[in-house]
Amino acid sequence: MSGQNLVLIFNCGSSSLKFSAIDPASGEEHLNGQADALNTSSAVLKWLYCNKEGKQPLSPGDDYDSVIGALVERFADPWSELRNHLVAIGHRVVHGGELFADSAPIDTNVLSAIRACCELAPLHNPAALQGIQASLVAFPELPQVAVFDTAFHQSLPDYAYLYALPFRFYRDHHLRRYGMHGSSHRYIGERSAELLKKPINNINVISAHLGNGASLCAIKGGQSVDTSMGLTPLEGLVMGSRCGDLDPGLLLHLGEALDYSLAELEQLLNRNSGLLGISELSNDCRELEEAMAKGHAGASLALKIFCYRLAKYIAAYTVPLTRVDSLVFTGGIGENSAWVRRETTGWLSQFGYQLDEECNEKIRFDAEGRISKVGTPDIFVIPTREEWVIARDTIRIASRAS
Ligand code: AMP
Repeated sequence: MSGQNLVLIFNCGSSSLKFSAIDPASGEEHLNGQADALNTSSAVLKWLYCNKEGKQPLSPGDDYDSVIGALVERFADPWSELRNHLVAIGHRVVHGGELFADSAPIDTNVLSAIRACCELAPLHNPAALQGIQASLVAFPELPQVAVFDTAFHQSLPDYAYLYALPFRFYRDHHLRRYGMHGSSHRYIGERSAELLKKPINNINVISAHLGNGASLCAIKGGQSVDTSMGLTPLEGLVMGSRCGDLDPGLLLHLGEALDYSLAELEQLLNRNSGLLGISELSNDCRELEEAMAKGHAGASLALKIFCYRLAKYIAAYTVPLTRVDSLVFTGGIGENSAWVRRETTGWLSQFGYQLDEECNEKIRFDAEGRISKVGTPDIFVIPTREEWVIARDTIRIASRAS
């Protein structure tokens, strides 16, 4: 570790806090861990440091403050060697609204702006704010930077981000499409340029981030020009337990004819739909593939709908890009499921896409490479590195601010 500068990254979710320490130059990870099930009786802090796993139970009342407090103690001892290498802290913030098109050094104005975006991400932004406040107290000597999931998509043109609602909803309430997974899509654009050995401003990429949450992004010359998530992460692709695109009239019907309350709709659309809802089995792609192999009809239908919707979106994104230099699969499903990649590209043969079946079967478990046949349009699998993007941005912004 000698001579290395490390960035500590905090990612505060609605009931979890993930952290890692990364070398922004190489992407090497020296520590990672998370506190799960915060505010419940099973709350626990777990980590991996120097290839050794550790854990510490938390109390039901423990919040982001207590978790960061517990980390500060560990950084004093036994992680003091790591502590000496920390040069900055990066915070993942889900929603930056229209206020942030780039990462930002944390100060009182930035904190107020993040607070102003809370109504756009009521579960996530308040959690990020609590994490930032606790981290400012715990590490007062380190520069701290906010890295927004939405910032990469601020380059969307108005005809892509506006909903066809009366314009005043945008003007008065900022209701528009924002997109998420920005750090992941940005990395995929940059890494594609390296793999294609071309300058990023000369290439067009379709990035398919397929994890438990899933989104597609059309990247033109390194800039996001369309993306499938909207005001919230619900829009777009079929996801683990989120429905993705729906007829908005269906929501009216659920309210009027079936008496659904707003809270019940939130639960239905975010937590009980998608792969889980269709299969009536699981939100987990791997589990569904195993069940499909044993003849489970629901699992097979759920995966088929997932791939069909994805293929339609990929076809649609040829519109803003006109020429596509690479189609990239990433995220837990995109990186590991040869079946999803085969089924999806099977729908896209009219665009010339053809898989090299052997490469497709081989690439998984953090591997990277081309999976298309020689002489056909490029399809890559690229493991995403969101934390590395956050670490690099943190250093870029922190050194500019100092
Ligand atoms: P993420 O949210 O990016 O961690 O991705 C989680 C998703 O990746 C889950 O649906 C997992 O089932 C899926 N996944 C991980 N490994 C595999 C695999 N070997 N085959 C199929 N799906 C996988």
